[in-house]
Amino acid sequence: MISCLQEDKVRLPEELNATEPQRQALGSTLQTQLEGVEAKLSDQTQELNRLCSELGTTDLEKHLEILVLENDRLKQELNGCQLQLQQLRVSLTGCTGCEHGKENAQLREQTADLQLELGEKTQLLAKLQQHLKDVLQDKTEREERLNKQIRDCHIGLAKQPMPSVKYITKRIEVESSRTKQDLEEAQARNHYLQEQIAIQRRLLAEQEQQLQDSWRTSAQLQAQVMMYEAELERTRGEMLEAFQAMEDEKNQAIEEVFLQARTEMKTVHENLNGVRMNLLSIQPALKTLTSDYNCLKNHVRDFPCLLQDAVNQTKREIYQAVEEAQKTNQDLLRKYKREMQLRKKCHNELVRLRGNIRVLCRVRPINQDDGTGLDTRNIISFDSDDDAVLYVSHRGKTSMFELDKVFQPHAVQADIFQEVQALITSCIDGYNVCIFAYGQTGSGKTYTMEGSPEDPGINQRALRLLFGEVAERSADWDLTITVSMAEIYNETLRNLLAKDPNEKLEIKLSPDGSGQLYVPGLIQIRVQSVDDINKVFELGRVNRATDFTNVNERSSRSHALLIVSVTGINLTSGVRTTGKLNLVDLAGSERVGKSGAEGPRLREAQNINKSLLALGDVICALRSKQPYIPFRNSKLTYLLQDSLSGDSKTLMMVQVSPMEKNVNETVCSLKFAQRVRSVELGPVVRRAENQHYSSRQDYELESPSAAPQQGRFNISHSGGKTTAGKRRLMASGEVNHRQSPAALPAL
Ligand code: ADP
Ligand code: MG
Repeated sequence: MISCLQEDKVRLPEELNATEPQRQALGSTLQTQLEGVEAKLSDQTQELNRLCSELGTTDLEKHLEILVLENDRLKQELNGCQLQLQQLRVSLTGCTGCEHGKENAQLREQTADLQLELGEKTQLLAKLQQHLKDVLQDKTEREERLNKQIRDCHIGLAKQPMPSVKYITKRIEVESSRTKQDLEEAQARNHYLQEQIAIQRRLLAEQEQQLQDSWRTSAQLQAQVMMYEAELERTRGEMLEAFQAMEDEKNQAIEEVFLQARTEMKTVHENLNGVRMNLLSIQPALKTLTSDYNCLKNHVRDFPCLLQDAVNQTKREIYQAVEEAQKTNQDLLRKYKREMQLRKKCHNELVRLRGNIRVLCRVRPINQDDGTGLDTRNIISFDSDDDAVLYVSHRGKTSMFELDKVFQPHAVQADIFQEVQALITSCIDGYNVCIFAYGQTGSGKTYTMEGSPEDPGINQRALRLLFGEVAERSADWDLTITVSMAEIYNETLRNLLAKDPNEKLEIKLSPDGSGQLYVPGLIQIRVQSVDDINKVFELGRVNRATDFTNVNERSSRSHALLIVSVTGINLTSGVRTTGKLNLVDLAGSERVGKSGAEGPRLREAQNINKSLLALGDVICALRSKQPYIPFRNSKLTYLLQDSLSGDSKTLMMVQVSPMEKNVNETVCSLKFAQRVRSVELGPVVRRAENQHYSSRQDYELESPSAAPQQGRFNISHSGGKTTAGKRRLMASGEVNHRQSPAALPAL
C-alpha cells in the first residue's frame, strides 16, 4: 500500500509536471479568450456610446423643447389675434352690408379656417411629441437593458469559467446587432419626425404670415371705417345745417305766399264781380256767336269735298307743269348737245383760224445767276397795245419782230399753257400736234417744256389736262394715253425709256402699205396718273445725254421728244380716233463759232444746225403748201412727218434771252420765228400786208441773212390739196394780218 502510495507520490508529481504545461497552455488560452472578450465588450460599449450620441437624444429633446415653446408662443399669438378680431368685429358691426363688412366677414371665415387648421396641426404636433416621447422611452429602456446585460456579462465573466465567456460574447454580439438595427430604425423614425416638424413649422410660418396679412387688412379697414365715420359725421353736420337753413327759407316763403295769396284773392274777388257784370252783357253776343258757329260747322262739313276738288285741280296743273318742264328739258338737252357740238366746232375753228402753224415767243426774265455786268442789260421792249410784237434795241437801232403772240418775262407757266391748251385738247379729237421749244441754250426751252416740280411746264400740264379730259369724256369714250420718250443726238434716234438708252432706233415705213411711219422698239408706257408721268419723266431725264459747253453751264445738244398718243373708242358708235402730241425740247440753236466747239463737238453742233434748218424748211414748205416737203432732210422732221403734215397742228415756241450779250442769238431766233410764220398765203393778201406794215421796216436790224428768199417758197395754192389746207386759206385774213415780209429771213 505504502509502496503503491509512494508510486503514486512519485507518479503524481510527474503527472503534475506532465500536465503543468497543458494547464498553463489552457490557462493562457483562456486568458487570451478573456482578453478578446473584454476587448470586444469595450468595443461594444464604445459602439453603444457612439450610437447613443448619433441618435442625438439630447438634440431631439432640445428640438422638442423648442417646438413646445414655439407652440406655446403661437397659442399666445392666436389668443391675441382672436382678441383683436373680436374687437374688430365689435367695431365693424356699424358697417354691415358695406363692402368692407363683406371683406371683413370673408377674412373672419378665413381666420376661422386657419384656426381649425392650426388646431389640427397642434393635435398632430401633440401626437408627434407623444410618439417621440414613447420612442425615447423605449430607447432608454433598451439602453438600460443593454447596460444591465453588459454588467451581467462582466459579472458572469468574473464568475464563469473561461468557456462560458464565449457564449456571453456571442450573445452580446447577437444582441448588439439587434440593438444596432433598432437604433437605425429609431434614427430613421427620428429623421422622419424631424422632417414632419420642419413641414409643420413651415406651415405654421405661412399661417402666421396669413394672419399678419389679415391683421394688416383689418387695420386698413379699421382706418377706412374710421375715416368714413368721420366723413359721415361731417356730412351729417352739414346736412343738419342745410336742413335748418331750408326750414327757415320754407317758413319765410310760406309767409310770403300767404300774404301774396291774400292780396290776389282780393283782386280775384274784385275781378269776379266785374266778370259777373260782363256776363250779363255778353249773353246777347253769345247768341250771335252760336249762330256763327253753326254756320261755320256747315262750312267745315263741306270743306273736304272742296279740298278734294282743289287738290285734284292742283295735281292736274302740276302734271301739266311737269310735262311742260320735261318738254323744255328735252328741248334744252337737245339745244345743249347742239351747242356742245357747235362749241367743239368753234374750238376746232378757233384752232384752225389761229392757223395750223403758230409761232409764239417767250422772253425769259433776267435772274440773279445772270450777273450784273453791262452785257446783262435788257434790250427787249414790248408794245402795250399789241401782244404780238417785240422790239430789240441794239447799238442805237431798234428792230421790230412780229409773231403770233409774245410772252413777256413776267408771264408764268400757266399763261403759256392757257395759250397752248386748245391744241392739246384737239389731240383727243384725233389731231396730231407738235409743240417745239426753239432757242439758244439758256433761253428757257427746258423751263417752258419741263418746268420745275413746283411749277411744271407744258409737258406735265398737257398730260394733266388730258387726264382730266379723259375722265370727263369717260361716259362716251374709252380713251388710252401712252407716252414715249426719245432723243435725237447726232442724227441718231435713241429710246429714252429703254433699259439701254444707247440702243439706236430706226424709223421705218409701216409694212401695211398705209404710208405711215413707225419706230420699231420705241417703248410706249401707258400713264393714268401724275405719279405715272413723274416716273416716266424721271427715267427719261436720267437717260438723256447732256454735256457742258462754255456758252452755258449746261447745254442740251440733243432734241428731246415726249410723244403722247391718245387712242379712243366711242362707246356708242365704236368710232376709233388716234391723236399724237409731240412735245419737243429742241437742242440749243446757238451758232457753232460761239460755243467754241471743235472735233466731235463741232460735228454735234453741225448736226443740230442741220436739223433745225431742216425743221425750218419743212415748216416753211408746209405753210406755203409746196408739193414737196423735205421731211427726209433730218431725223427729227422724218420722225415727225405725220405729225407735221395734213391736218396736224404745229406750235413753235421761240425762246429768247433779253440780255445784251445774247443779242445776236436772240435776233437769229426771232428771224427764224418770222421765217416760219411769214409764208402762208397768196400774193394778194400778202400785198395788202406789205402796205399795212411798210412803215415798220425802218426798225429792221442789219443782218447778212435778212434778204427775203421768197423764191424758196411756193406761195401758190397748188400745194393745198387737203381740206385742212383749204380751211387754212379761208382763215388767212386773220393769220396774215400780222405778217412782215421785210423780216423774212433765211437761216
Ligand atoms: P434751255 O433749256 O433753253 O437751255 P433753261 O430752260 O435750262 O434753258 O433755262 C436756263 C435758266 O433760266 C434756268 O435756270 C431757268 O430756270 C431759267 N429760266 C428760263 N426761263 C425762265 C422763266 N420764264 N422764268 C424764270 N426762270 C427761267
Ligand atoms: Mg435745256
